[in-house]
Amino acid sequence: MARLGEPWDFLVVGGGATGLGTAVEAASRGYRTLLVEAHDFAKGTSSRSTKLIHGGVRYLQQGNISLVLEALHERGLLLRNAPHLVHNLSFVVPAYDWWEGPFYGAGLKLYDMLAGRMGLGPSRFLSRDETLEIIPTLEPEGLRGGVIYHDGQFDDARLAITLLRTLLDLDGVAINYLPVVSLLKQGGLVRGAVVRDAETGAEHEIHAKVVVNATGVFSDGLRRLDEPGCEPILSPSQGVHLVLDRSFQPGESAILVPHTDDGRVLFAVPWHGRVILGTTDTPVSGISPEPRALPEEIEFLLTHVARYLTRDPSPEDVLSCFAGLRPLVRHGEAGRTAALSRDHTLLISPSGLVTITGGKWTTYRKMGEDTVTQAAVLAGLPEFPSGTADLRLHGWSAEVEPTADWAVYGSDSAALTKLSEERPEWKEPIHPRLPYRACEVVWATRHEMARTVEDVLARRTRALLLDARASVEAAPAVARLLAGELGRDAAWEAGQVEAYGAVARGYWL
Ligand SMILES: Cc1cc2nc3c(=O)[nH]c(=O)nc-3n(C[C@H](O)[C@H](O)[C@H](O)COP(=O)(O)OP(=O)(O)OC[C@H]3O[C@@H](n4cnc5c(N)ncnc54)[C@H](O)[C@@H]3O)c2cc1C
Repeated sequence: MARLGEPWDFLVVGGGATGLGTAVEAASRGYRTLLVEAHDFAKGTSSRSTKLIHGGVRYLQQGNISLVLEALHERGLLLRNAPHLVHNLSFVVPAYDWWEGPFYGAGLKLYDMLAGRMGLGPSRFLSRDETLEIIPTLEPEGLRGGVIYHDGQFDDARLAITLLRTLLDLDGVAINYLPVVSLLKQGGLVRGAVVRDAETGAEHEIHAKVVVNATGVFSDGLRRLDEPGCEPILSPSQGVHLVLDRSFQPGESAILVPHTDDGRVLFAVPWHGRVILGTTDTPVSGISPEPRALPEEIEFLLTHVARYLTRDPSPEDVLSCFAGLRPLVRHGEAGRTAALSRDHTLLISPSGLVTITGGKWTTYRKMGEDTVTQAAVLAGLPEFPSGTADLRLHGWSAEVEPTADWAVYGSDSAALTKLSEERPEWKEPIHPRLPYRACEVVWATRHEMARTVEDVLARRTRALLLDARASVEAAPAVARLLAGELGRDAAWEAGQVEAYGAVARGYWL
């Protein structure tokens, strides 16, 4: 906490994709940058996405060409700047009606064209046999063929941690468990914030030339600290995912169903040895750091995916169920959230609070670039050009196969291997059904600012999403390792195990 009292150029509030992207952008341009996060980095929407770095086939259907172009460009940059975290994934669009092959095939050719030189491989038609060869568990009855195309896939929380490490490499500072509780004003202008240490309750004043509100679905709350009674700009929408065993969809390709009953896109995507099904689009009025799936969202996903797979998944097959809230921006009175804007919105209040929201994970860098460019002018800071389009993220490595063990650590995986050799027990798996070892818990505490069992099991590793029950069984061992690293006692360990169990129980059906 020693550095909190320093004079900062940028105070970024919120440690999700948007805040981390903005902070990396600011620090890389040489501004003194501090980021504060109320809970843990990526605790909000940024650990709950479909895990695609994509232009968005769905936005193409809606005719939002500029958004698709921008996202495809960013997809290309991310594959170049974080090859250890983002990889090329093929998607199969199955065709059951005569018109679906030509119709989706033409749309995906346009998608290829928009990607241009940044394309990941051309789309092409598949015969019925080829389609079944690529997705052997696809429902064969009535199948005519399909179209295959390419997009990017990633691990969202790991990209957030990588951005955190990149920020630290650039001499920026980031602190988790430090919510902003009020804003500081001078002459009517926002000039900093008061933060409260969630572990000790101590409050601190932070002074900065400009404050950026990057709090996702909580943005209206922070705006109200600046202007009580201001009109909300967000209409949050919930999206749910179910995680199944890989046997439901073996093979390396994902399935995309472009049009479900409620007009959504349905994905079944292989990820870390499991299959993720998603997603829904349910307008919500209340916002919570731990949103919960509604029974009808679960029912919707299970029923729809059953139409496309030979084996129908039941609630007992669900290894984990997670929900996230989209920070969708209202434009007048739009009715359904599926039609609200996925573009980002930058808003500057009369007192100079800069709010950046909307957008998607794929476009986090561009959101950061736009924000810092505007905010620097607003704060009268010297102007420097952006260099993040060519900035390699922490751990950059072209040698690591993105699907290999420890690939997400990139060039750090050598140091992790060394750590695993320090003590025989650190090589042990934390649970027989989870692909993680004890040394990763130690690593997360020493190098990735993990403070709790949940930080480790939900976001440094993805145990909570891969198998919620197994993660609860692993919690006592993880708590012991953490307590050893953080110098905590047995009562803390017990409290952590209990708190984690309470959160994780919300992830199984
Ligand atoms: C279901 C779903 C699927 C998606 N799939 C994709 C996808 O496949 N690809 C893609 O590109 N995009 C996807 N998105 C969109 C993407 O996930 C979001 O646009 C992005 O994660 C939003 O990041 P954020 O930083 O704005 O918000 P968040 O990640 O929610 O971060 C905001 C942070 O602010 C913190 N905070 C709040 N109040 C305070 C305070 N007072 N002080 C300090 N900190 C505070 C919160 O704790 C939180 O961590 C998906 C979204 C959803 C919901």
